[in-house]
Amino acid sequence: MTLPHPSITKSSPTHRKCIGLKYRTFVVDSTLRRVNVAVLCENSAVFRRIVSENADPDTPIVLHGSTTRQFGNLLWGLEVNSMPQPRDEGDLERILDVEELSRHYSMYHLQVRAESALLAAIAEGTNPAILACNTHALVRMLRITMRVHNETLFSFLMQLWTWRLHSRELDHALAIRMAHPSCWDYDPQPFLKLLGHAFYAAMVVMEPKLSRGQHIDLDSQLTRAEIVHVRCGYHSLRSWWDQIASKAPAYMHCPRCMNPERCSYVWRIRIQWLAENDKIPFPKVDGIRRLQELHRLLAADSFLIKNMPETCRHSALQELLKRKEHLLKTVHHHFDL
Ligand SMILES: [Zn+2]
Repeated sequence: MTLPHPSITKSSPTHRKCIGLKYRTFVVDSTLRRVNVAVLCENSAVFRRIVSENADPDTPIVLHGSTTRQFGNLLWGLEVNSMPQPRDEGDLERILDVEELSRHYSMYHLQVRAESALLAAIAEGTNPAILACNTHALVRMLRITMRVHNETLFSFLMQLWTWRLHSRELDHALAIRMAHPSCWDYDPQPFLKLLGHAFYAAMVVMEPKLSRGQHIDLDSQLTRAEIVHVRCGYHSLRSWWDQIASKAPAYMHCPRCMNPERCSYVWRIRIQWLAENDKIPFPKVDGIRRLQELHRLLAADSFLIKNMPETCRHSALQELLKRKEHLLKTVHHHFDL
């Protein structure tokens, strides 16, 4: 399919020249490719200019700034009737290539089609290609959501990046480089938070060595400065956990609580017992997972169920969740960011 372009109907001399030549050889990334140049010219003023500047039909046109794959994907985008929803990594990369290169060559209609397909796939929230994408694709999609000012989709992708760092599906060292606020012409706050989670993920990986006092800079992908941040976070989160363990979160007692003092005491000793007796199978510095596990254990704890009024128990558990939420929002402070 060829897309309508306002200038087609005008049929400028340059355009007629393009159509007349039909096929030309392009050199992209040192690879030769015969291309129906009329299709490119119909859709792009930039290509019309490039072709008119390279009038000799026997001399290949050298295109700079794109790879063979990207150029091939652009030609694919021009051929397909509708942009399919990405179903895997390859599909996603193809549509991202089309979006970026069509923007580069001012192919407005094609760019809008690719952009819409990508935004719809992200908005779906369950698209397998988006949920399993690599860091580079995530960064490329983030740039699109920022360009179209879609805060909701931007936040969704940032959250996806954060959780996939914690589950170790995405590389923390790459995130530490690519999420640095200096790389983005944008509000630094969301990127600082993401950077905090990337350092947190790095710290969890290095924890066995850190806890034994071993060197972590040997064979590390991180720079010395980055390792200093990891160490900061490690020490800060250790003392943060000690505080949680020694001082159970306070909560509001319900009007029916007959003995608030005893109620609080029961809550406190149970938290201390769980926190101090190695009942939580995560390192001390992994406060996010520890709080999650602590909440799970306390929510099912029969001693608390028996000895605390239901509403008090619920409020107390909520306070624990608030601690976790607060840690998630402020994790970057621990790493001195
Ligand atoms: Zn109570």
